[in-house]
Amino acid sequence: MGTGGIDPYKYVGRKKFNIKTFDTSDMGGFGDRSEAVDEFVRNLLKINKLQQKLYAERKEGVIFVFQAMDAAGKDGVIRTVFNTLSPHGVKEYCFKVPSAEESSHDYLWRFWSALPARGYISIFNRSYYEDVLVGKVHKLYENQILPDRMHDVDIIRQRYTQIKNFEKYLYDTGTRVIKIFLNVSKDEQARRFVSRIDTERKNWKISSGDIKERQYWDDYMEAFETMVNSTSTSINPWYVVPADHKWYARLTVSRIVLATLEEIDPQWPVISDDELEMVQEYRKSLVESLSGEYEPPEMQLPDFANPGVLAARIVENEERGKIVEQIARRKELGFGAVEKLLEQQPVIGSLDALIEAVANAKDNRVEEF
Ligand code: AMP
Ligand code: MG
Repeated sequence: MGTGGIDPYKYVGRKKFNIKTFDTSDMGGFGDRSEAVDEFVRNLLKINKLQQKLYAERKEGVIFVFQAMDAAGKDGVIRTVFNTLSPHGVKEYCFKVPSAEESSHDYLWRFWSALPARGYISIFNRSYYEDVLVGKVHKLYENQILPDRMHDVDIIRQRYTQIKNFEKYLYDTGTRVIKIFLNVSKDEQARRFVSRIDTERKNWKISSGDIKERQYWDDYMEAFETMVNSTSTSINPWYVVPADHKWYARLTVSRIVLATLEEIDPQWPVISDDELEMVQEYRKSLVESLSGEYEPPEMQLPDFANPGVLAARIVENEERGKIVEQIARRKELGFGAVEKLLEQQPVIGSLDALIEAVANAKDNRVEEF
């Protein structure tokens, strides 16, 4: 069982973030990933329920900002943790090098159109924080033509304040900004780059830019540290997530998302007594208009209604290849047969349950395929 929770990783402007002493390989008290799977799946189910309420209530918008060095696992975290959310209430924005049009405006300009409406969640895969990260490391502001009055000001220092003010403005007007820094070690980044080069289906992820930016590692670490220390507030905290173990980063982000939604505590909207009376009248007339008796709708079977299926699929995807291989070997079956069996399993709470279910399946059931 993990013991640490998310508090050790939360920065609200009081304690200092020291990137040199931060343990990127922390596993929060877990012995290994298998101990964390059940909680991960449960968190996803709870997040799913809370998002439905958030959307129904339409009271508050939420932005989850993700920043990290290359190969720290941003895309994987976003894919796995937000996978169970209903697509109608969530949108991901990937911010790249600004276009010519974007560069001709102030650096916050391109983010306004990505702000969530109340009830919605925006995921910022990179953000205006790039302007105090890559923008600071390479002094990109020096390439811009600026009014004379800006020549002697510390532009990066000003941006920290501007960003804090921007986020406070959003908070005060109904949108929460939660910031997540996936902190990976230099060694682990090297391993992931090597794996991307060695694995054909990961080749597309490598870019020459990544290799170039790695040479500025120390400058980036300084920029990340100062960013967290300059822009953490109690209303718009930073979470620095240990990211050397992908499973632990994903679990921790699921905890952060869950804690954020629990704090918002969205409620199903209730209708007034007058409205209730009106709809009860309407109900009566609807029932009277039916040709036969009214019967309540059938309950959906779990495999059509329960997002747990989806959650289990996510866990499964990570490990799927390995499990299928293991079981196929043990049962001397073709991979296709095991895949089919996996599909038949209705609700699976955890990876262990999944392995057990497949392993315990009667051989004759499998032979039918
Ligand atoms: P990726 O997310 O791997 O597709 O890469 C996107 C690239 O866009 C990264 O190298 C970022 O540093 C870069 N980028 C994003 N925002 C900015 C910005 N405001 N200024 C300069 N580069 C940026
Ligand atoms: Mg990249």
